[in-house]
Amino acid sequence: MLLHSAILLALTGGTAFGQHLDSSNEYLALVGGTIYASPTDETIRDGVVLIQGGKIAAVGSRAQVKIPRTAQTLDCSGLTITAGFWNSHVHFFERKWANAAAIPAPELGRQLQDMLTRYGFTSVFDLGSMWENTRRLRDRIESGEVPGPRIRSTGEALIPPGALPSDTVIAMMGLMKFPAPEIADAAQAAAAAGKHLEEGVDGIKLFASSPRSPSLPESAIQAAVAEAHRAGKPVFVHVNTGADVLTAVRGGVDIIAHTTPSSGPWDETILEAMKERRVALTPTLTLWRYYARHDHVSAQDQIVNTEVGQLRAWLAKGGEVLFGTDLGAVEYDPSEEYALMSEAGMNFRQILTSLTTAPAERFGESKQLGRIAAGMQADLVVLKGDPAASLRALTAVQYSLRAGKIIYRATQ
Ligand SMILES: [Zn+2]
Repeated sequence: MLLHSAILLALTGGTAFGQHLDSSNEYLALVGGTIYASPTDETIRDGVVLIQGGKIAAVGSRAQVKIPRTAQTLDCSGLTITAGFWNSHVHFFERKWANAAAIPAPELGRQLQDMLTRYGFTSVFDLGSMWENTRRLRDRIESGEVPGPRIRSTGEALIPPGALPSDTVIAMMGLMKFPAPEIADAAQAAAAAGKHLEEGVDGIKLFASSPRSPSLPESAIQAAVAEAHRAGKPVFVHVNTGADVLTAVRGGVDIIAHTTPSSGPWDETILEAMKERRVALTPTLTLWRYYARHDHVSAQDQIVNTEVGQLRAWLAKGGEVLFGTDLGAVEYDPSEEYALMSEAGMNFRQILTSLTTAPAERFGESKQLGRIAAGMQADLVVLKGDPAASLRALTAVQYSLRAGKIIYRATQ
């Protein structure tokens, strides 16, 4: 049985992921769990998610969903099921991803598991890495050779001239060394963005400023945005200050990739501009605390208070939040990010929105991903506890499934 052997091999770390279940008509039923089909749907207790051909065939209570006799079943009693998570700010730029075409499959699988699938991430947006390398990494996952998440990437970020850190700093940070296109004006920005889009990237990432160079002018941001939007792709921006946020938003970017705690609270002008232009925010709260870890604790507290305050103010505006951690630049465990988002006032269902429906909609995938509903891709996370009771449950993953296949299973 194809399904059975695929699951077995998933458990034993084998490499049968080339055998896509998508072509199979066999059923897999996740039985007995608590189901949060979406952030707004009512909770289903003792539920069933029925999967066929990589898609969700039915979801409901045990009484509502008829399980075919031939179905494989996975007992999910005491567990919780949600749609697969998105991390909308990651990087495949650590040295461990270098020469992705040649990393042995079991090792590559382990790396993807350690960083992503063990925490339930079945979709990620890479906001800056070596495009050629990341594309090869994605190809190996998509071919079925290695279990991993769906990957979208902006390729190399477009940066102001001289913004790249020194070789020493890059080496210390554990990153691959690769050039990034430098842009100073509208013509250069349009050319660099156009070239990237021609090479097949899924979005454009801009650095609005850097400590080592002058900030990008709004006209350069506008030019890159025009190219990306013509191709129907989103634009992300790295910001260091509230002033960067304002320039980027006025330049038409779609996603603010960070909060900016070192520049103090965001004032009404910034928040109003963000709201008016309907941008989304990835808060990356853990990142700034991590970078401040060598400073006086009072300074660390100030960073955390300010970034949490910025997120709280954005939420009060009704702003859209996409979960994102700058993964690759910080530790992999997202527990602290969830805790800090909660500190900013987000409850479980709001955090679930930032992990599922919000990114699926923002990136044009809401008909396939983000919710558990008939006809959708069977990207699912099965958690050991109930995150509505404690957010700690969000990181205690029992299974991650992508298109109906188990791509991660906890061993204990
Ligand atoms: Zn980043």
